[in-house]
Amino acid sequence: MSPAIGPAGSQGPANRIALLGQEPDGLRAVLGADLESWGEPGYRLAQLVRWIEEHRARSFDEMTDLPAGLRSRLTDRFSLGEARAAFEARSEDGTIKHLWRLSDGIQVESVLIPTAHRVTLCLSSQAGCALGCRFCATGELGFTRQLSAAEIVEQFRNADRISSEAFERPIGNVVYMGMGEPFANAGPVFESLTILHRGFGVGARRITVSTVGLVPGIRMLGERPEPFRLAVSLHAADSALRAELMPVERKYPLDELMEAVRDYQARKSRRVSFEYAMIAGLNDSVALARALVQRLEGIASYVNLIPYNPIPGRDWGPSPPDRIDAFVSVLEAGGVPTAVRTPRGRDIAAACGQLRLERALSGQAD
Ligand code: SF4
Repeated sequence: MSPAIGPAGSQGPANRIALLGQEPDGLRAVLGADLESWGEPGYRLAQLVRWIEEHRARSFDEMTDLPAGLRSRLTDRFSLGEARAAFEARSEDGTIKHLWRLSDGIQVESVLIPTAHRVTLCLSSQAGCALGCRFCATGELGFTRQLSAAEIVEQFRNADRISSEAFERPIGNVVYMGMGEPFANAGPVFESLTILHRGFGVGARRITVSTVGLVPGIRMLGERPEPFRLAVSLHAADSALRAELMPVERKYPLDELMEAVRDYQARKSRRVSFEYAMIAGLNDSVALARALVQRLEGIASYVNLIPYNPIPGRDWGPSPPDRIDAFVSVLEAGGVPTAVRTPRGRDIAAACGQLRLERALSGQAD
């Protein structure tokens, strides 16, 4: 495949080429061509690529071992990202959430979540989301636009620098669980997977793509040679209830979704995780736990139960501990490994889209 400058979204403001949106071969080709035409020595390319991929440089001015004239030429021709932190919130539990203002003023969120052994970055794949899941703050905001591969990768690049400063360790895991449905922006998302893995060196097993169940995207992920992980936001194992909570169920019903998951697993031999928000009195009965066990039969799975994080304007609350315990007992008796995820960053509205929704409602966003 010939390296090429990425298409949509690869141009920064004033038509500067967005280098963070270039897959590794394309990055080397596009930089190499200009360096050669400017008469630069051959070693410059490796120097530049090292600054971008290893040192996570945010500007050419940081590249102090390059001549000033070359740095200025590079700045005129290329962009290393235009996002600015519009807002940062730090939780008592260490979670750090950012709102990034993109070059056109649109804002997207990313969250750094430190645990004892590693730091996980949750990033956004779209500005807003059109899928309208009823429990989701991003769904409430509606869809604004797709993110380019460069804008997705830039969240990682910026957050990784912050992780190294705040936690003294780089990001260990990346999850596509922020604003947006990754497979509804498949082209840039798949490009960004390549860039993060092959360019920035994040292990494929350390990158998880989380979907509400867009079947074509699951199949595409299964066809990738790298062992990227899959997570499915399920939230109900009963089709009628799921359709009430998640309109996507009407397009890709549970039967079709689970078939795609089985096919993914047959190709990858990877355990698939399922996210399940526990909403009091809605999807947390023992009968629904049994339905979930049935749905997962024959799939190597892992269920994350997440006590629902209430969003402004929706009258739902988290399931009480006794309901969660009863649900867990049924899953465990059915042989389904299960964890109840501790909510992180509640004091800073760290659920997907929540910070931006709260700021929008109080007139602070944009
Ligand atoms: S849960 Fe995901 S897919 Fe559903 S509305 Fe929220 S961002 Fe979109």
